[in-house]
Amino acid sequence: MIKLSNCHTHSVFCDGKDTIEHMAQRARDFGLVSLGFSGHGRQTNNAFGIQSEPDYAAEVRRVAALHEGRMKIWLGVEQDYFGYCSVPYDYRLGAVHYLDGQDGVNHPIDHSEVCFERMLREGFGGDALAMARAYYDRVVAMCQKNRPDVVVHYDLICKFNEDNRFFDESDPAYMDVSLQALEAICDGQRLLEVNTGAIARGRRTRPYPDYPQLLRWRELGGRVILGSDCHDAEKLTCGFEEALALIRRAGFKSVWRLGEGSELFEEDTL
Ligand SMILES: [Zn+2]
Ligand SMILES: [Zn+2]
Repeated sequence: MIKLSNCHTHSVFCDGKDTIEHMAQRARDFGLVSLGFSGHGRQTNNAFGIQSEPDYAAEVRRVAALHEGRMKIWLGVEQDYFGYCSVPYDYRLGAVHYLDGQDGVNHPIDHSEVCFERMLREGFGGDALAMARAYYDRVVAMCQKNRPDVVVHYDLICKFNEDNRFFDESDPAYMDVSLQALEAICDGQRLLEVNTGAIARGRRTRPYPDYPQLLRWRELGGRVILGSDCHDAEKLTCGFEEALALIRRAGFKSVWRLGEGSELFEEDTL
């Protein structure tokens, strides 16, 4: 049986809508057994992210104490390739949100469709495969550099690509690039997030990563965890049923989540 949990949430300390206290209360209402806060960490390429990590950490610990014994709350961070941490976190999500284009500009990947189009056109001369290569190379580099516990929104490069609008995700050349990076980052321990954030925002109808990537991850012996990349407490579990269906379809026998006690991650049999 699956116990509800969410390792990927954002609050008013970064770009989320709700306070830590409100999100924790809603998580209790939804029946979560554990909850992780994963505010966007500080990064060297721009000023985005949590402005005061000590204040953020103190607030998560304060709210965790309010729920002790009923729902475990973990202090996490979503760390970009360019990220750095100044306080110790219980766990770190690893993500790539920016790409250096051939035009010398550091482009945001998931900020808006306009920015994404500009990155493809001006940063990569319209060559989507070159852009995808640069993206997945950076995912591998991020894992080597930051050694995250969980890799999140693995194929974020597809965020604005519903119906293959910018490139064909079934193109064998694209698929090769995307699957080979999985082989490079799978160490048997690291978790791959099945992320429903773009479903919550009405941007995509499928979780990240897509089925072929999940299938390969399972073949590699990888482990998966659910995350809704939640920026709105009402969507704490949005898309989890679709994500679980996809995980089952890819042949996984279990799914991981944040622990209820002293163990950071625990496994539920499907
Ligand atoms: Zn992210
Ligand atoms: Zn996030």
